[in-house]
Amino acid sequence: MQQIPFFNFDAMHKPLKKEMIAAFEKAYDTNWWVLGNELKAFEKAYASYTGTKFATGVSNGLDAIVLALEAVGVGEGDEVIVPSNTYIATLLAVSMRGATPILVEPDVASFNLDPNKIEVAITAKTKAVIPVHLYGLSCAMDAIEPICKNHNLVIVEDNAQSQGASCRNKTTGSWGLANATSFYPGKNLGALGEAGAVSTDDENIDAKIKMLRNYGTTKKYHNAVKGYNDRMDELQAYFLNVKLKHLDTWNQWRIKTSEQYTQALSTNVDLLLPTYDKTKYKHVFHQYVIRHERRDELQSYLLEQGVHTLIHYPIPPHLQPAYKEMGFAKGTFPIAEQMADTCLSLPIYPGITEEQVAYVCDSINSF
Ligand SMILES: *Cc1c(COP(=O)(O)O)cnc(C)c1O
Repeated sequence: MQQIPFFNFDAMHKPLKKEMIAAFEKAYDTNWWVLGNELKAFEKAYASYTGTKFATGVSNGLDAIVLALEAVGVGEGDEVIVPSNTYIATLLAVSMRGATPILVEPDVASFNLDPNKIEVAITAKTKAVIPVHLYGLSCAMDAIEPICKNHNLVIVEDNAQSQGASCRNKTTGSWGLANATSFYPGKNLGALGEAGAVSTDDENIDAKIKMLRNYGTTKKYHNAVKGYNDRMDELQAYFLNVKLKHLDTWNQWRIKTSEQYTQALSTNVDLLLPTYDKTKYKHVFHQYVIRHERRDELQSYLLEQGVHTLIHYPIPPHLQPAYKEMGFAKGTFPIAEQMADTCLSLPIYPGITEEQVAYVCDSINSF
């Protein structure tokens, strides 16, 4: 029986092997491992890709959110609005700032923060909103931006899953005052290890991020503030410079795959498929997530057919033991809970073939 892996690097990494090894050789011969020219070049290239003036390479996506929040002034006692169905990192970053995450339910169709539910969650303590562009789809930034402006709230995007996505032709990672992303290996743009970045149009914010990631250093051994060691490895910058050039091609493969899934599954009445307005959004399909009432049974059935799937995410943040202090019982955020109970991520990655996708669809349709 054939096996369809959930994810596979081969189509991305095999053709780049020579170039990646040459990059490593250059790094090895140069012997400059931290905060060098290659990182500077990547920051410039990534900012340009995102459509922002500046970017700063950092250690990972979680640290990118923490630094972005600190740079825009989020701290002790502040409230930050986050979606109730995000990956735990979004909440952890808020907690690490000593601030309180305020959960807002997503829109059922898009899985993303529902702009209509933001205003009721705003209090005198609300400082910022973190729109998380989940699964490769931008939040409705054209609706969220004016709400934030009206209430004097800062936007900090969590763009970990959506490099290359856009809303009304404006790229994700360019809407907020400071925006975080992750280059965890499995993201649309992945390093060969841990890495992340913060993008911004604001020169002062950028300077703060660059200072904070490097021990609060303004000049060598001059420490203006208590900073961190959140620097991106120079070696990861070498690899990311090679990979960034291919991101659009890889995203295109994901988009093409999503179209095949949607077409082949559209007549299956037991499924809810991803839907979005193609005239408004460029969706880069970090995940292709379907919903089914008997999700666990479907997942087991697919595994018997050799189709490997994952669940993003099985337990929403408010029901995690890590956040038991919030004191939320089951039923508090029904949309997030329903999504956790019914969502299933199908294999989608550059290199997955039409035959493989057809096999996945046949397997789902025969359940
Ligand atoms: C992956 C991810 C992060 C964290 O990125 P790391 O590099 O793993 O720290 C944050 N938010 C979301 C939505 C993610 O998917």
